[in-house]
Amino acid sequence: MVLSPVLAAAVLLSGVPVLVGELAMSRRRAAMFWDIGPVERRELFYFQLLTSPRAAKEIRLFGIGGFLRGRMLAERRRADRAKQAVDRQEAVIQLELGVLAAVVAGLGLLWAVRAAGQGRISVGGVALLVTALPAVQAALASLASEIAGGHQALLLFDHYVAVRETEDDVLVCADPRPVPRLRKGIELRDVWFRYGPEHPWVLRGVNLTIPAGSSVGLVGLNGAGKTTLIKLLCRLYDPDRGQVLWDGTDLRAFHPAEVRGRIGATFQDYMEYGFTAGENIGIGDLDRLTEQHSIEKAARLAGMHEFIAALPGGRGYRTLLSRTFFSEEEKDDPVTGVVLSGGQWQRLALARSFLRDDADLLILDEPSSGLDAEAEHEIHLRLRDHRAGRTSLLISHRLGALRDADLLLVLEHGRITERGTHDELMREDGAYARLFTMQARGYRRGRALTPSGTTAPEPELDLGKAIP
Ligand code: ADP
Repeated sequence: MVLSPVLAAAVLLSGVPVLVGELAMSRRRAAMFWDIGPVERRELFYFQLLTSPRAAKEIRLFGIGGFLRGRMLAERRRADRAKQAVDRQEAVIQLELGVLAAVVAGLGLLWAVRAAGQGRISVGGVALLVTALPAVQAALASLASEIAGGHQALLLFDHYVAVRETEDDVLVCADPRPVPRLRKGIELRDVWFRYGPEHPWVLRGVNLTIPAGSSVGLVGLNGAGKTTLIKLLCRLYDPDRGQVLWDGTDLRAFHPAEVRGRIGATFQDYMEYGFTAGENIGIGDLDRLTEQHSIEKAARLAGMHEFIAALPGGRGYRTLLSRTFFSEEEKDDPVTGVVLSGGQWQRLALARSFLRDDADLLILDEPSSGLDAEAEHEIHLRLRDHRAGRTSLLISHRLGALRDADLLLVLEHGRITERGTHDELMREDGAYARLFTMQARGYRRGRALTPSGTTAPEPELDLGKAIP
C-alpha cells in the first residue's frame, strides 16, 4: 500500500480467483465424500467379515476368503479412483492458481525494477516488495484454503444435522405418566403394524391379553410377526393403528425408557458383548452392574454360575469374554479372553434378562434354541419355576416347551388365529395341534432297533409324553 496502492489492489484481487477455485474444490471434495460413503461402508463390511472369528468357519469351509478380499479391494479401488479424480482436478486448479500468483508476482517485480530505475522508489523499496509480495500472496492463499476447509466441513456437517433431525420411531408425549406396577395385564387391541408405508402389514388387527401373573406362549411360523409383536410390547415402535395397553393405559402415555426398564427380555438374536462375564450379565440392569450377589443369582438361574466360577485363570466373573483386547504382555497368556460356545452365550443372555428380578414382564424369544436337548430341558425347568407367578411371554418353536403356559396364542399372517391352553388347542385340532403332532411324531419316528437287531413295532404315539 505504501509503495503502490494499485499493485496492492491487484495482489488482493488476485486472491479472488484463488478463493473461488478453493470453494469449488471443497464442494467437489464434499460431494465425493458423500458418494464414496456407501462404497467405504461396503469395504468396512467385507473387512469386518474377514476379521470376525464368527465368520471364520464358513469363510474357511466355503473357501470364500479370496472372494471377499477381492470384493473388499474392489470397493477400496472404487473409492481410491474417486479420490484420485478429485486430486487430479485439484492439482490442475492449484497449478493454474500458482501460475496466476507467479504472473502477479512477476509483474509486481517488473514494475518495482522499472520504478526503481526511474527513481520513483528506492532499492530498499524493491527489497521490501520482493519480501512482502509473496508473503501477502501466501497469506491470501492460506486464508482461502481455510475458508474452503470450513465450507467443506459445513457441507459434510449436513449429514450430522440430517441424523440429528431424524425423528424417533416413537414419540415421547409432553407429560409422560409414571409406569404403575402391572396389576391387570397387557392388552393389544386391534393392533396393526408395518415397518413403513412401502412395507406390507406385519400385524393385522391383533387382539390379545397377557394377564398379569400368567405365562403366555406365542406360537407362529417364521415371519409370522412374533418378534415384531415383542418390539411393540417393548415400545421400540408404536402401532400404526390400535393400541398396546398397560393396565388399560396406552403405552404412548408413558416414557418409552421407563416402559423398557420394566421389561426383562432375551431376544432370538441376543448379543455377545466383549466384556467380562460379570459385565455381560450386569448390563441387563445398569443399577446392578456392581451388585455381585444379584449377578450371581441371575447366573445360577441360567445355569451359568458354576461354569463362570470355574473359568480358567481363576478370575471368575472378571474373566474377559473376548480375545479382541489384550495388552502386549498378555498376548501369549492362554487365559486372556475366554471364548464361549453359542449355548453358553445364550445362557449369559438369559442371565442378563433375569437380572431385572422385579421386571413386570419377562419376554423370552427362543431362549433355548442354541442349547442341547438336556440343557434345554434343564433351562425350561428352571424357567418354569422362575416364571411361576410372573407375567411372561415365551416364544419357542419347540412346542413342548410351551405346553405348561397358562395361555397359548397362535399367530398366523399377523393375526391371532387360535387361543387356549394346550389341551384346549389340541381338542380344537387346528394349526397348533397339527404343529404339535408333527413335532411329537418327529421325535418318535422310525422303528427302534431291538438288541437282537430286528426292528420293534413303532410305539403308539403318546402326545402327553412325547416331549418332556
Ligand atoms: P417372526 O419373529 O415371527 O419370525 P418377525 O416379526 O421377525 O417374524 O418378522 C415379520 C415380518 O416383518 C417378516 O416378513 C420380516 O421380513 C419383516 N421385518 C422384520 N423386521 C423388519 C424391519 N426392521 N424392517 C422391515 N421389515 C421387517
